[in-house]
Amino acid sequence: MQDEFNPFEAMAVRFDAAAESLGLPEGQIDMLRKPVREITVALPILRDSGELEVFTGYRVHHNIDRGPCKGGVRFAPDVTLDEVRALAAWMTWKCAVVNVPFGGGKGGIICNPGEMSERELEALTRRYTSAILDMLGPERDVPAPDMNTGEKHMAWLMDTYSMHVRHTETAVVTGKPLGLGGSEGRTEATGRGVTITTREALKRWGGTPENTTVVVQGCGNVGGIAARLFQEQGYKVTGLSEIRGAIHSPAGLDVRACLDAFSKEGTLEGIPDTDWMTNEELLTQPCDVLAPCATENQIHAGNAGDIQARLIIEGANGPTTPPADAILEDKGSVVIPDILANSGGVTVSYFEWVQNRMGYSWEEWDVNGRLERLLVASFNDVLECAQRTGTSMRMASYILAIERVWGCSQLRGIYA
Ligand code: NAD
Repeated sequence: MQDEFNPFEAMAVRFDAAAESLGLPEGQIDMLRKPVREITVALPILRDSGELEVFTGYRVHHNIDRGPCKGGVRFAPDVTLDEVRALAAWMTWKCAVVNVPFGGGKGGIICNPGEMSERELEALTRRYTSAILDMLGPERDVPAPDMNTGEKHMAWLMDTYSMHVRHTETAVVTGKPLGLGGSEGRTEATGRGVTITTREALKRWGGTPENTTVVVQGCGNVGGIAARLFQEQGYKVTGLSEIRGAIHSPAGLDVRACLDAFSKEGTLEGIPDTDWMTNEELLTQPCDVLAPCATENQIHAGNAGDIQARLIIEGANGPTTPPADAILEDKGSVVIPDILANSGGVTVSYFEWVQNRMGYSWEEWDVNGRLERLLVASFNDVLECAQRTGTSMRMASYILAIERVWGCSQLRGIYA
């Protein structure tokens, strides 16, 4: 029986359905489903206490048919190899949906970054980089930030790689600080992409920012920035959450003030004129748009029937399980899938990689304009595929991605 909460199975169920609908033979399906390589590394780190602790890290290359692997590195206590495999595969399909010349990769380290000092985090990042060094490179695998990692981790990674190869190689990683070859617009890109895909979906399924209420789960890089941009664009944001709980106000939140309070106090709890509730409760509040921007498996068979939003925009990777997809579809809710809705990040990562390789940088308006054009084109490609194949936006995005990856694979042929 399928495990509803295993992210790799969740990816594989959608992939298999899309690949079968395209009539791909079993061998070819197998080739596109399995990661090309994966590694588990032991990372011994001297803790501040003087004790030695060995952490476990992973890096998975899912597919390289369209170019070097691209994908973030996540630090979290519950990272598993299956989760990293799923995230790597989603990167393959996401890069293909937005038509950037990358394959899919992902990495993770089992750790609790909240309980580690800056020095310990730096040591862990550097040791991880050196442990997976042979897999990295601007033409091989280009990591980026993910949950609990950001530009400082990318700077450490870039520096460690550069020390080993004996020259500064900015294009080995994206999401770097601006002063080290980072791109204008990268920090905001995923959240901005969430708002671009929401706007395009409203054009198709009805609604304007002014008459649309939004609930955002998660207030990190994706959720926090998406919530702020939603409010700046005229939407009413009625709910926002962090890992411990959520705030809700039918009158609408002052998102900037909430985010300021969160960065000062470390919690959203206690913000005036808001109700404090669990993340689970937040997801089922009345709203037009629900943007889960935290983590996997948030919308599942147990709560999908209670979701009131008519549009679900997946800012996080894998927030909806396959059984929940079916329940939402039966109810008439539309899901804009992760591999389209959160692809703004990888799109601007691609721009960062291009700028690094050119040795030239673009201004923010230029980056944002390119992001806008590419995401609107990708949204329309998926919509056209959904209409052509009579499937959901989720299935259409997989079909389109598989067509593109398989097209490259066929042109390359099988090396044996
Ligand atoms: P982040 O660490 O900056 O923020 C994560 C947020 O989610 C935090 O507010 C945290 O409190 C909350 N959270 C974590 N676990 C939770 C849980 N179990 N329940 C409720 N809230 C929880 O991470 P991020 O970069 O914003 O990434 C969020 C999601 O978006 C992940 O699925 C990530 O893979 C995906 N994503 C990120 C990017 C990017 O550019 N950062 C790009 C594409 C997809």
